Amino acid sequence: RNVLHWFRSKDIRQEDNKGLHAAAQKAKEGGGSLISMYLFSPKDMEWHGTSPARSDFILECLRILKSQLEEKNIPLAIITAEERGNKTDKVMQFAKENDISHIFANMEYEVDELRRDVDLAKKVQGQSDISLDVLHDQTVIVPGSLCTGAGGPHKVFTRYYNDWLAITKKKPNLIDTCPPPEGNDKSAKQAHQKLFDSTIPTLPESKQFGSDKERDQIRKLWPAGNKAGMQRHADFLKHKIANYAANRSEAALDPSSRLSPYFSSGIVSVREILRNTQKFNQGKDLASGDAGVVSWVREIVFREFYRQVTVITPHTSMNLPQNLKFDFVHWEDDEEGWKKWCEGRTGIPFIDAGMRQLNTEAYMHNRLRMNTASYLRANFLIDYRIGERYFAEHLIDWDMSNNTQGWEPSYTVFNPVIQAEKHDPNGDFIRKWVPELAGVKGKAVFMPSERLGKREFEKLGYPLPHVEFKESSARAKARYKQDLASA
Ligand code: FAD
Repeated sequence: RNVLHWFRSKDIRQEDNKGLHAAAQKAKEGGGSLISMYLFSPKDMEWHGTSPARSDFILECLRILKSQLEEKNIPLAIITAEERGNKTDKVMQFAKENDISHIFANMEYEVDELRRDVDLAKKVQGQSDISLDVLHDQTVIVPGSLCTGAGGPHKVFTRYYNDWLAITKKKPNLIDTCPPPEGNDKSAKQAHQKLFDSTIPTLPESKQFGSDKERDQIRKLWPAGNKAGMQRHADFLKHKIANYAANRSEAALDPSSRLSPYFSSGIVSVREILRNTQKFNQGKDLASGDAGVVSWVREIVFREFYRQVTVITPHTSMNLPQNLKFDFVHWEDDEEGWKKWCEGRTGIPFIDAGMRQLNTEAYMHNRLRMNTASYLRANFLIDYRIGERYFAEHLIDWDMSNNTQGWEPSYTVFNPVIQAEKHDPNGDFIRKWVPELAGVKGKAVFMPSERLGKREFEKLGYPLPHVEFKESSARAKARYKQDLASA
């Protein structure tokens, strides 16, 4: 009988894929074929607000994966699930039609996805001739498993990070990788012809790009597939990682790896990336050696930590803040401010530069994400969840854990002028993304409405700030204090 690997949107690769590898082993033992499937759900894309860039990236990555697997006589059937709720029925029906004895998949940690897997497990339990295995693949350390001395899971990053480093040092095989599947005999082609014939769906109507030009630009910036992701990592090691510790917050230098879409859709394996990074670091463990390497690995550990947070505070994947008291904040209904924020016309150059980068590249540098998020939820006092959703609708790298943690409300309010002076000291990032300010000299570029004469400013065609910084920051802090106290 045959064995199925069910690909999800977080493991679209054949390289070092734990679920796929286990399925291949099982098929080999039993002498059946290895079959794979992906459930395409336009309604899920609507629900999560998946951006056109990410939707298209996923489909392009599936196209590449399908042809790679076909070379090995492994079919990848793309099944469309019309309704959000009937996914597990579709899987069971697929299993029945294709004589599947065993289903493999990799775990997703959000509540809806966990419920879906529990539902599948129940259906499988009701049948005597089929079994299910859901494996941990997304991270090096299983989310929820790194605990304090007292036994509860770590909730503080620094402690989590120190333990993560200690464990990976003690057990270097945690970043061992598994090989891609060997493939089926040629006879599988004929036996499963219908599955090989399944085609890659087109983008749903609501996920279309504004124009073909826009789509082509995004595809050029973010080439699909594992090979492109691994090449990006190799280039990053060669050209940028050495200066990462010093430059990582300087957006104008484009100092980071830009691997986030490849991580969020599982196009690359975190173990393989770390293994290659360690090799580059001359075999030293992930806590020592080159400062750039240590600093970059720390970000990867942040990604792991945020998955742990999703597991231990599941309400964060249900539109609630980690600190539930922030759910009691009375937010403002500032439609004009919202529109200005989305369009990058708030009158604060650093904020506007970040938003325009997002609207153009489907990506924003981390420092800008921190500032634009803080500006919306504090200075405009707009419900942070609306901003979180806007990020989902525009980012190519949308990742529930990283996004919700990045948006988690707090009392911290960034001053975007000071931030710009520190992290974009020459104003290059601002001038690149806000062309109205391209000719503004010196430090005036950080706050032209205050640092230029009235007439000179008016000539720019750039808006005045929507709110005054000090006043709006004080308003937010007072509101948080009052509403959290009554929570
Ligand atoms: P690099 O600096 O090269 O880092 C390597 C990898 O480490 C990244 O690809 C990412 O997987 C991980 N990483 C880096 N920084 C962080 C971080 N702060 N938190 C968690 N993981 C990190 N990241 C997403 O992948 N998807 C999101 O939807 C997302 N939304 C965010 C929203 C806000 C408000 C904030 C403040 C941050 C968000 N981040 C998100 C985290 C971070 O901004 C991006 O991961 C990073 O900018 C991606 O660029 P890079 O791949 O060049 O990162």
